[in-house]
Amino acid sequence: MKVLIVDDQRSMRIVSTAIVESLGHQVIDADSGKKAIEICREEKVDLILMDVEMPEMNGFETTKVIRAESSIWFPIIFVSAMTDTKFFAEGIRSGGDIYLFKPIVREVLESMINAMHRIAKIQDELHSTKIRMELLAHQDALTGLVNRRGFDNAIELEVEHSKSDKIPLSLLLLDIDHFKLFNDHYGHQEGDECLAAVAQVLRTAACRPNDIVARYGGEEFAIILPATRPEHAEIVVDRVFAGLRNLAYPHSESPTDSVVTISCGIAELVPDRSVDELIKAADEALYQAKEEGRNRCVSPSNV
Ligand code: GH3
Ligand code: MG
Ligand code: MG
Ligand code: MG
Repeated sequence: MKVLIVDDQRSMRIVSTAIVESLGHQVIDADSGKKAIEICREEKVDLILMDVEMPEMNGFETTKVIRAESSIWFPIIFVSAMTDTKFFAEGIRSGGDIYLFKPIVREVLESMINAMHRIAKIQDELHSTKIRMELLAHQDALTGLVNRRGFDNAIELEVEHSKSDKIPLSLLLLDIDHFKLFNDHYGHQEGDECLAAVAQVLRTAACRPNDIVARYGGEEFAIILPATRPEHAEIVVDRVFAGLRNLAYPHSESPTDSVVTISCGIAELVPDRSVDELIKAADEALYQAKEEGRNRCVSPSNV
């Protein structure tokens, strides 16, 4: 785990760091509440050891701000020399989980960290379960992919999760090239079969357990790739293109190729980008891929 140790006293930080590192955790430290808040904004912290008595901003005030700014829970353990029980109550009210006394006893801290870690794991499992249920409840009958409703809900959950965990996320929007011409020539039923075949190619290309492949609209698809930067999303797109070449679904009317092809736009979840802005960015990249001749991908790294 990544543990943030907040204490205005250097000697306390050194002692706590030694104990936490000896328990096999990674430590970052802060000498003030303000610094702790900044760290929490920039990186993912799994647990905080928070001193209570600090100048300017005390541990309770700091905790309130950190809780208000974070959408997911992670454990905050107060470590204080103040043993009056009224401080316990204030600590819990401000958003802390446990109140320990200084000096820190290694065995006590180890047990508390283990207990908190157990709860954090349950939270992660709940997130995955919520997503899985969302996907199962909203399936598209023709392709077996997640439907638009499921996509809308899943993207909200995944973006929120990626933001609070400070991990990347890539969104792909894909649209079959000249599909109207396909339908006009081969008929709507053959069009449906083609859609199901393309969906299977997408599913095979985005193969990690947390990847989400959705039918976004008629012949448009969306792929959510959690924990993935655009450079790696491009590998998935390469697999899509290779899969379609291999599928070689005939499209005699396409001005682009003699087989069914697809265009793709990739967008990256950058800080402060909302779900709508992320989708818009992917849509613009897709539009550009169409403009530039179709059967290609436009990614933040190649614009
Ligand atoms: P572009 O390369 O610009 O994407 O050209 P396009 O013809 O694919 O684009 P457009 O959006 O104009 O046409 C999409 C067509 O997809 C319209 C409709 O005939 C077809 N389509 C949409 N949903 C379905 C579906 O569920 N089944 C079938 N068979 N066709 C569909
Ligand atoms: Mg202090
Ligand atoms: Mg379309
Ligand atoms: Mg199309």
